[in-house]
Amino acid sequence: MNIELRKYYERYIESYKSQSQLARVVTENWFIDNMYCPFCTSDNITDFPNNYPVADFYCNSCKEEFQLKSKKNGMGRVITDGEYNKMIDAIYYGKTPNFFFLNYTFDMAYVNNLLIVPKEFILPTCIKQRKPLSKKAKRAGWTGCNILLNAIPDKGKIYAIRQKKVIEKDKVRNNIVSIDFIKKIKNLESRGWLSNKYISLYSFCCQGKFVFIAFEKKFCILKNCIIINILIC
Ligand SMILES: [Zn+2]
Repeated sequence: MNIELRKYYERYIESYKSQSQLARVVTENWFIDNMYCPFCTSDNITDFPNNYPVADFYCNSCKEEFQLKSKKNGMGRVITDGEYNKMIDAIYYGKTPNFFFLNYTFDMAYVNNLLIVPKEFILPTCIKQRKPLSKKAKRAGWTGCNILLNAIPDKGKIYAIRQKKVIEKDKVRNNIVSIDFIKKIKNLESRGWLSNKYISLYSFCCQGKFVFIAFEKKFCILKNCIIINILIC
């Protein structure tokens, strides 16, 4: 993986007057050339045709879908996203894509950060409604949303690039595998509750099967450790 954006910038600078459109095309083209699927062993990600409703990219092998959101400099606390109700519906209908949040340097020369948030960690509590557009606006009444990065548990934030340092592909994929348990929880409330209030570990049960155990954080003081839930056994 090469974090340089320069050649994409030079390729598209003449064709785009708007900085935001230029940033989008530069980062998307870099992404297709450099990013692998973090969910399987495929080394390629493919783009959807333009205007596909929710996602921008997918993996031809495991069929996971991705949306790339790019922003100048750092990650900040919020990421601006699309229409609020569509986003909430997508979460409840299980149609949310996995997100990649990318930061590029002010001169579009390098990728600073690339953060993966698997779709299971995008919960209604992470989405904040923005003010509807004013009556004078072209799309008056249209209401967008912000994704609140602070509301996403740390376990659900997996870096592929952090402060210009590329994280090894195997490490990224292992980090994704380590949170696989959350996919088995279909109920959204339980998923949020579990990822925020509990710590988890994998172990072997009495029959030698691999099990996932969740401990409530406040009870997890060695001898007072209370096992509250065994999800798979
Ligand atoms: Zn894949």
